[in-house]
Amino acid sequence: MSSPMHVICVGAGPAGLTAARHLARAGVKVTVLERDPVHVGGISRTEQYKGFRFDVGGHRFFSKSSEIEALWDDMLGDQLITRPRKSRIFYNGKLFDYPLSALDALTKLGFLESCYCGLSYMKARLFPIRDPKSFEDWVVNQFGRRLFNIFFKTYTEKVWGMKCREISADWAAQRIKGLSLGKAIAQALTPSFIRRRSATPKTLIESFRYPRLGPGQMWEAAADQVRDAGGDVFMGMDVQRLTRHTDDNSWSVFAQDSEGVEHEYRGQHVISSVALRDLVKAFDPAPPEPVMTAAGSLRYRDFLTVALIVRDVDCFDDNWIYIHQLGVKVGRIQNFKSWSPHLVPDPDLNCLGLEYFCFEGDGLWESPDENLIRLADEELIQLGLVTAGHVIDGRVIRQPKAYPVYDENYEHRIALFRDWLTAEAPGLHPVGRNGMHKYNNQDHAMMTALLTAENILAGEENWDVWQVNEDAEYHEAGDDKTLALKSERLVPRPLKETG
Ligand SMILES: Cc1cc2nc3c(=O)[nH]c(=O)nc-3n(C[C@H](O)[C@H](O)[C@H](O)COP(=O)(O)OP(=O)(O)OC[C@H]3O[C@@H](n4cnc5c(N)ncnc54)[C@H](O)[C@@H]3O)c2cc1C
Repeated sequence: MSSPMHVICVGAGPAGLTAARHLARAGVKVTVLERDPVHVGGISRTEQYKGFRFDVGGHRFFSKSSEIEALWDDMLGDQLITRPRKSRIFYNGKLFDYPLSALDALTKLGFLESCYCGLSYMKARLFPIRDPKSFEDWVVNQFGRRLFNIFFKTYTEKVWGMKCREISADWAAQRIKGLSLGKAIAQALTPSFIRRRSATPKTLIESFRYPRLGPGQMWEAAADQVRDAGGDVFMGMDVQRLTRHTDDNSWSVFAQDSEGVEHEYRGQHVISSVALRDLVKAFDPAPPEPVMTAAGSLRYRDFLTVALIVRDVDCFDDNWIYIHQLGVKVGRIQNFKSWSPHLVPDPDLNCLGLEYFCFEGDGLWESPDENLIRLADEELIQLGLVTAGHVIDGRVIRQPKAYPVYDENYEHRIALFRDWLTAEAPGLHPVGRNGMHKYNNQDHAMMTALLTAENILAGEENWDVWQVNEDAEYHEAGDDKTLALKSERLVPRPLKETG
């Protein structure tokens, strides 16, 4: 008699936990192995310091997939609250409404600059760059060069640590598709009761849902639900090695615990949300050299948050502010009390998250925490957002591999690795954001996990999980046809197709 199916999920982020919960509730034996000794939720976790709770970047819960929205309700019930969205752009000493409001932008840019922007926009519409290849080409075509320089260039280059000319146009098309200057201005001039949520590009959404105690609350609930359904979630387990047994098509997953002791878990399927660059190094025996090089060359942008505890006087009430100002390193500032008042234990205090985009090992990343806290305090004062003496404490959180980079060759590299996985690693299923090297949100990570779990339950590849993004086109498009991701969530994969 064959042994009952055992599925090992590597990573207790949104993807790993969604898959594990789905499978455990279907009666499958599930083991989740998470490297972090304390937190579930991955990048969507909630950190805590002296009773203050904060995100690694603010995490909105919004999806065009009604299935994912329903899943969030099922996981967290009435702990999921609806919050108003307010965000602005800090540029040239002023706070500009974001989404752009025509009147606000005109007033704050001044008459002359606004005329230049208008002319530059008209030029871009009349003489667009043919075949836009880079982020810069794509945005200049949509907004004009002058607005590109003011509202996109500085911030984007801070985020990615690359020139906008080096970033692929795909990225812009994926992230801000459906958003053009014309639409932004139309949005600004339309009364809110007429605006339809489904017709609104995602970057312009006016409210969002958010767990009362931060995104980690969702993932702590999901982990409990996996355990309630009979699954295991083991923390502090760093998966370092994967070996396939060709005799019975099973996998051994070797994980090191916090004491350095190696544990082996054996199962028929492995669902991996490990970053592809790390995953390729875990195979024993190793894949051929071209595959190792391709996956090993994938790049990431890293990220650190300096959470500052401040006296809450005259503080801005936005959820977050984009910093386009030259002369400071901070890229974005979160106001966690605006995300949820329950994140802050004392009504006279607040917690601001100053976000710095960096590369693991660079000067910022390596700076001692006290220097980063001082830098963040000084930059807040320099921007005029608080006055001296308001900051009373701080905490630094570093997040490696926050953003998978879409550079010139990333698609080719992934395709090479994917072909090898399909041919040589049946039963190994990459899911999620870094797990598939897709710059996407929780809903996408969850959908890739749900469909992988369904494939496993069905015993066949009914869904091509790699196409969730392209097929579903739910990301930023904003279109009624795409509202229910489930209904078109995938074109069933043609039988016998590989890749
Ligand atoms: C600044 C920022 C803001 C964001 N804002 C939003 C937002 O507003 N809304 C939204 O929906 N999404 C947002 N996201 C995206 C969201 O964080 C991700 O889409 C989501 O966390 C991806 O889930 P995942 O499970 O695929 O990966 P992850 O969250 O990366 O989880 C992977 C897990 O696997 C574990 N792991 C990795 N390697 C190993 C190993 N070898 N052994 C064991 N465990 C391992 C990690 O520790 C981690 O817990 C944001 C991301 C960032 C960086």
